[in-house]
Amino acid sequence: MIEPTKVCTKCGKEKPLSEFVRNARSKDHCQSSCKACRREYNKSENGKKAMAKYQKSEKGKRARAKHAKSEKGKKARAEYIKSEKGKQVAKKAMAKYQKSENGKKAMTKYQKSEKGKKTMAKYQKSEKGKRARARYRKSKKFKKARVQGDL
Ligand SMILES: [Zn+2]
Repeated sequence: MIEPTKVCTKCGKEKPLSEFVRNARSKDHCQSSCKACRREYNKSENGKKAMAKYQKSEKGKRARAKHAKSEKGKKARAEYIKSEKGKQVAKKAMAKYQKSENGKKAMTKYQKSEKGKKTMAKYQKSEKGKRARARYRKSKKFKKARVQGDL
């Protein structure tokens, strides 16, 4: 069987349909430009701008929400979280959140809560907590705090 082909409107090359992104709304169920061209476009300034605009739009938000709820989306998310990049991004986002007003408020609230107190007590008794305290006592921050009479 000969695979049906299509001419890409961007690069003008004739390529098999498998080289085109599927698009149910178009006549032949494929997008007009091939995957290679789409990739190039997505990497370009214009493509990035269009993507950012799309993600901020109602349509983009709905599509993301729908994707996040789908099995495929959940799987992709679980895999992403486990990936090195995902871990790094999560770490950065967490650090940013902890520095933000909301993050600080949430932390204070948590530390005052029963659960927070229990977790803290458990942590301080753990090896990791003891090591962290020992390290903190040797730090400049601790010495400075002591001079200022904070402790
Ligand atoms: Zn092309």
